[in-house]
Amino acid sequence: MLSLKIRLKEELMCKTIVLSTQEDSAVSHCPSCHVIYVWHKNLMLNFSEQDFMSFKSMLDEYRYCESGMPFPDQRERILLHTPHEDISFAFTQEELLQLLKLLDEALFMKEVYTLMRTEPGFR
Ligand SMILES: [Zn+2]
Repeated sequence: MLSLKIRLKEELMCKTIVLSTQEDSAVSHCPSCHVIYVWHKNLMLNFSEQDFMSFKSMLDEYRYCESGMPFPDQRERILLHTPHEDISFAFTQEELLQLLKLLDEALFMKEVYTLMRTEPGFR
């Protein structure tokens, strides 16, 4: 399955290029170690390119999912399981669509850079 690593440390030292941004989230890529960083509010996720694709297709499956679990604040949220049994993400549909937009844009930019071979750090 998806191997999702949640780390709180120095990988931020990589010389990354930003692929897409929103107000409080961004996707960046390190061309040297091929890690894709997804910063989304208070989450920071690191993916290999393959895991990034798996993560995105997992989210895609929920793109048209309009119902979720009721939460104490009376809003419904879609629960996404992580490979860590004890940890799940809870997104309102709106939040999920925003994250998907961020990831879609990142993927598009990454493809553009790859095609044009212009990604900073490309060898
Ligand atoms: Zn790196």
